Amino acid sequence: MKQQFIQLRALQELDTDIKTLSDRAGEVPNRIEKLRSDLDKARSRLETAQAGITDRKKQYKLAEVELKAAEDKITTYSVQLYSAKTNEQYKAFLKEIEAQKKVKSGIEDRMIVLMEESEALERERVAAEKEHAELAQDTEGKVKSLETELAEIKAALAEREAHRKELAESLPPALLKHYERVRKNKNGVAVVSCKGDRCGGCFNPVPAQRVLEIGREDRIYTCEACGRILVPDK
Ligand SMILES: [Zn+2]
Repeated sequence: MKQQFIQLRALQELDTDIKTLSDRAGEVPNRIEKLRSDLDKARSRLETAQAGITDRKKQYKLAEVELKAAEDKITTYSVQLYSAKTNEQYKAFLKEIEAQKKVKSGIEDRMIVLMEESEALERERVAAEKEHAELAQDTEGKVKSLETELAEIKAALAEREAHRKELAESLPPALLKHYERVRKNKNGVAVVSCKGDRCGGCFNPVPAQRVLEIGREDRIYTCEACGRILVPDK
């Protein structure tokens, strides 16, 4: 009978271990996923900055063309100004020149804004590039170590599961069935110690006489409140 108590304790320990290991194994893919998603975010930050710089350069080049066109018009109208035949013509050319000067000034303002934006984007690009490079290196190492960790957990799990199978087969079928039923209903814990005069699972009192009986380990007793198998506190 004492042998059965040893087996029950060992089985419970193994099952607790298996649950802990399974939970840890289950978390590893999420952790890898998080690392990769952080790296993706850093890459996308870098790409956004690069795309912004390309866009501002393109806009700046277009503005240069527009500026040249406005300047050419001003030059043309200024030449024409001197060949004006009437006062009306003269005024009309002057009006055109003023209008093109406004256009030119608007383009110049836009070019200043574009340059400022380019500078800010360049600073952002440098920062994003640094962050991405650091993260890329970091992520690779961390993912590798998580993959190693997962392989180790899986090996430990396989070893525990083989041992568990052996142990389960050595128990009387009725006792194993009882154990499995309680384990399923009680969140994985079927065997608990009797802590003083209380059940180590639900903490309900266990009568003093029963505590003594449990201590003898010559019969299986279960907690009257929660149904868990009670073993002496050792
Ligand atoms: Zn209990």
